[in-house]
Amino acid sequence: MSKLEEEIQSRKTFAIISHPDAGKTTLTEKLLYFGGAIREAGTVKGKKNTKHATSDWMEIEKQRGISVTSSVMEFHYKDHQINILDTPGHEDFSEDTYRTLTAADSATMLIDAAKGVEAQTKKLFKVCSMRGIPIFTFINKLDRQGRDPFELMEEMENLLGIRSYPMNWPIGMGMDFYGIYDRHSKKVELYNADNPSHVEIKQTSGPDDPMLDEMIDASLLAQFREEMELLDVAGDPYDERKIKSGELTPVFFGSAISNFGVQNFLEHFLNLAPAPVGRDSDQGYIAPAQDNFSGFVFKIQANMNPKHRDRIAFLRITSGKYTQGMYVNHVRLSKSMRLAQPTQFLAQDRNIVKEAYAGDIIGLYDPGTFRIGDTLADSSDFQFDEMPHFSPEHFAAISVKDAMKHKSFEKGLQQLTEEGAVQLFQTYNKYPEQQIIGVVGVLQFEVMEYRLKNEYNADIRLEKLPFSIARWVNGDPDELETFKKRQKNLAVDRDGRMVALFDNEFQMNMTKDKYPQLTFYENSYMK
Ligand code: GDP
Repeated sequence: MSKLEEEIQSRKTFAIISHPDAGKTTLTEKLLYFGGAIREAGTVKGKKNTKHATSDWMEIEKQRGISVTSSVMEFHYKDHQINILDTPGHEDFSEDTYRTLTAADSATMLIDAAKGVEAQTKKLFKVCSMRGIPIFTFINKLDRQGRDPFELMEEMENLLGIRSYPMNWPIGMGMDFYGIYDRHSKKVELYNADNPSHVEIKQTSGPDDPMLDEMIDASLLAQFREEMELLDVAGDPYDERKIKSGELTPVFFGSAISNFGVQNFLEHFLNLAPAPVGRDSDQGYIAPAQDNFSGFVFKIQANMNPKHRDRIAFLRITSGKYTQGMYVNHVRLSKSMRLAQPTQFLAQDRNIVKEAYAGDIIGLYDPGTFRIGDTLADSSDFQFDEMPHFSPEHFAAISVKDAMKHKSFEKGLQQLTEEGAVQLFQTYNKYPEQQIIGVVGVLQFEVMEYRLKNEYNADIRLEKLPFSIARWVNGDPDELETFKKRQKNLAVDRDGRMVALFDNEFQMNMTKDKYPQLTFYENSYMK
């Protein structure tokens, strides 16, 4: 293996997806802790409500004079470099949460054992499964009484359409939590509630090992043995091919807060998760292990501090190696540019990157040259596939208060749309024409308003609209023509694609029934 291949093979780039409060921050901290990236767990980031997130940025800005983001964290563990992409929950949930997933090669779905599959887990899962990436599952908070593991697996199948293979299995739960049994190694990891960081690991010959009778309460053990039998007989067989294609999710049980089951997860994850994979472009598949450097911008983070307007563009390196100061081709602008000071992200620090490889994420200072989806490549001029726009759920008509500021307002709006901060639609067949902003999370409205005022000196008027669903529409040309004439609340997106807006599902389903030859897509991918 060449040095380049070796470097790439040692990398794992993944995202943790979950509903707020499932324990993502906690799990991330424990993972970083294993890697020695932080000294004490509990210091990755503060609470994530809107106000806090904003002031955090500003506070840290002030202290360091740089913009800080916890969008990517990296750590090293057993010869691996692991890059964790953060996908925020709460109010800052937005489209770039989804886009961030395009930079990941696998995902870990974190589920609260008491709550099961929740709304945001479902949304994020959908985006991952659309890409066919492997999805791991960590069922968290076993130190508390949760739902029956079989019931949780069934819920995953019913709500997400994915079958599961438990890599380990809990013995008891809550007050009666004894630990986990690793189905591969047949080791039992014993949970010690009084001292959770001290894990005793026992090798067994299997669930029937008589040794277990001495350690575990008889009725719990009987239940555990029954469950193992049921799993062996009725459960899905272990199938690595299905895991790699995202059809089967390996499931782990644990308690992130007690750091229990986290290492078991990490070890298996490193074994099974893919090394960086390539991406499709207009000139075919771009494989990671090649001499030519390339990457794409998947997220642009604007600075909330009006004193510094700098933005960071996050680039996922898709192929080859980055070296400091290298020249690359900015394909959309047909311009050569020098990548002088990209940064890489540790738990609490940013470093200037000297070299980085396919799979890594680097942050580029962006004076306004980048857009979401831009390709950088050191030689050829292919473009990676377009970033999808996701279905917005909140809509507002937008206009500028002071007509004199019209020009700068339009400029700002264009910039924000290009960055992917908001989606802009134009009403179709409606006079006077109206500009409509669509967002996935309402915080995007606030950010937009703030930035238009601070960066473009434009005060805006936002009038909330009653829609909650947008669908990109395509299909039989005749029927599409009729649809365009008769359907109310149509709009076109930035690229002229037809989009229908609905107040609710009921309204949408009625329309779907009326136009059976048309397809209503949830995103601009139209697939
Ligand atoms: P996030 O919103 O997904 O980042 O969740 P956090 O990591 O902030 O955790 C949400 C809450 O769940 C916090 O109060 C955590 O202390 C708690 N929590 C996280 N993991 C566990 C766990 O394994 N067991 C228990 N009992 N609580 C947990």
